[in-house]
Amino acid sequence: MRILVIITCTFTSLFCCFSHAFLATSPPLLVGPISSTSTSSTRYYPFCSKNFPAIGTSSLKSSSNAADNNNNIDDSCDVLILGGGPAGCAIASLLGSNGKLDVVVANKDFDKDWVPNYGVWKDEWQTVLDEYKSFGIELDGGEFGRSVDREWDVTDCYFGGSFDIPTEKRMRLDRPYCRVDRFALKKSLTKNFRVVEANHMSNAIGINVYSPAGTLIHDEDGTTIQLQPKDADSSPITMRTKIVIDTTGHETKLVMKDNIEPYTQPGFQIAYGASVVVDETESTNLSKIGPYEKDAMTLFDYRTDHFDGNESETIKANKAPTFMYAMPLGGNRVFFEETSLVARPAVSFQECKDRCFKRLKHHGIVVTKIEEEEFCYIPMGGALPARDQRILGLGGAATMVHPSTGYHICRCLMGASSVAKVIQEELALEQPNIDRAVASSYDALWSPGNIRQRNFATFGGEFLMKQNVVGLRGFFDGFFKLPLELWGGFLAGWPGLAYNENHESWEKRIWFGLNFIVKLPLPVAADMFLSIVSYSLTENFSLIQSVTPLLGDPPSYKYKRNMDSIGDVAAKEEAVGMIRQSNADVAEMPTEVAITAEKTKDVEIVEST
Ligand SMILES: Cc1cc2nc3c(=O)[nH]c(=O)nc-3n(C[C@H](O)[C@H](O)[C@H](O)COP(=O)(O)OP(=O)(O)OC[C@H]3O[C@@H](n4cnc5c(N)ncnc54)[C@H](O)[C@@H]3O)c2cc1C
Repeated sequence: MRILVIITCTFTSLFCCFSHAFLATSPPLLVGPISSTSTSSTRYYPFCSKNFPAIGTSSLKSSSNAADNNNNIDDSCDVLILGGGPAGCAIASLLGSNGKLDVVVANKDFDKDWVPNYGVWKDEWQTVLDEYKSFGIELDGGEFGRSVDREWDVTDCYFGGSFDIPTEKRMRLDRPYCRVDRFALKKSLTKNFRVVEANHMSNAIGINVYSPAGTLIHDEDGTTIQLQPKDADSSPITMRTKIVIDTTGHETKLVMKDNIEPYTQPGFQIAYGASVVVDETESTNLSKIGPYEKDAMTLFDYRTDHFDGNESETIKANKAPTFMYAMPLGGNRVFFEETSLVARPAVSFQECKDRCFKRLKHHGIVVTKIEEEEFCYIPMGGALPARDQRILGLGGAATMVHPSTGYHICRCLMGASSVAKVIQEELALEQPNIDRAVASSYDALWSPGNIRQRNFATFGGEFLMKQNVVGLRGFFDGFFKLPLELWGGFLAGWPGLAYNENHESWEKRIWFGLNFIVKLPLPVAADMFLSIVSYSLTENFSLIQSVTPLLGDPPSYKYKRNMDSIGDVAAKEEAVGMIRQSNADVAEMPTEVAITAEKTKDVEIVEST
């Protein structure tokens, strides 16, 4: 996790030199496989609330011209969500929460449990709970109980072994941490939508172009997409929808990534985790498991003394550092996770597993049972989604993971609520514009301001990837000596999350950087300074843009009508204005100008309704 580095640079540069919805008007309708030609054995789950016909309804009624004209449409909906992870369930529940949209989640593995042990800061999680409550979705204390199953009042770190920090020294952070109850969360987010157990089968090969041909086609009113049911022998289901939201995770096949901006390649967080039972019969202090307090979450143990005496392992661990993350779960149960924060190429899972058990042995922790294992693979950083595409990415698919920490769940749930508001509003219009809905949703996720903030964190990820274990210990020791509102804001990195307001402007990021750099050990501070300079000179100007007012904003995702960007827009607009003033007939205008004038009129009318 983490990072910051950027600041120095900033510092340096400052001081040195210086569509009309196809179903639009009628209530959502369809349900269940209806095409007589369909041999699908796909199961449908009626998670939809109120207004929609019961699953299995046999007649397909739709106001969609496309659907009416196409006998091959098996089902239709207002919004189709691909993927049933946290991003997919969150956006589906939110969109369906007003009872006006027919939302379908397509995922052949929908009934499988989510795997990750999501760890979150309690105050960040609270902002998520409050946001969902405003949509009428109770994530905590609702019918499925609490959304966290373990809570720690304090968080511990160990950075000893470098810079004269004793190995035993513990740094205690006065900030509560929680483990999300992934089962309860999924249940709380499984409402207001239908489920079809089928996967999409397309690959984007260009902006809005897909392979195999005919499996995914966009038009003015929406999208027709083929889904492969769980039963591989079944025929594909053809689905008609206004908007497709891709939440299939970090390595999406549908969301095209931006290749205009000079983004760096992603790094990878790799971790081997295990929920274990330990033998405490020899323990003299039952308030601890090894060095780890049972009442505290251990966020980082970056010590390497368990390799003492083995030169080759020590060298390896110094060069490709991993840390222990430990969540005591009550009694003699604990979740241990040996983690490589971020690396390119990725550290091997086997290496993490070996180091995990070596560390436990060193601490005298005897594991009697492994209850479950977790293999964590998180791409971090990398390109944002391309602009002007009709598929809306969300969650990992929209590169929403924090580029220097790997945290994602709170960002993803907050981002889903911003997108839900945009889509609910657009689809409530008599003549929704699908391109505008998608572009505005992307803009709600990745506003120019949020991109600038992310660019700052991306540099942090790059800096961390370069560090050996000594550099990381020095870095984090300085980081957590900052006031909570400064380090908390960096870790949040998403609008609306706790403390994020302290990082939302370039001035605040510079302030953070200046405060941070003076807390770092000299060699780490010097490395950061040089890294800022070299990153800015050799990679791109995104860091400078993030921490100064010098380079303006990155390009926006906002919706632009195509006509706006053809030819000399200013000249045409001037002509339109002058012609209107003189009451000239549109027919007298040059074609380009006439079209612009007509379009402008249309838009003005639609927007004013
Ligand atoms: C082991 C692990 C631990 C993690 N721990 C944390 C943590 O502690 N804190 C934190 O904030 N983040 C954590 N993360 C980050 C994590 O990536 C995200 O929080 C989250 O799981 C991503 O959500 P998502 O919904 O975008 O994607 P995913 O959870 O990856 O869900 C993708 C969904 O798409 C489905 N799918 C795939 N292909 C198709 C297809 N063709 N058609 C239809 N559906 C498809 C999949 O079955 C799945 O349901 C962890 C990640 C991992 C892997």
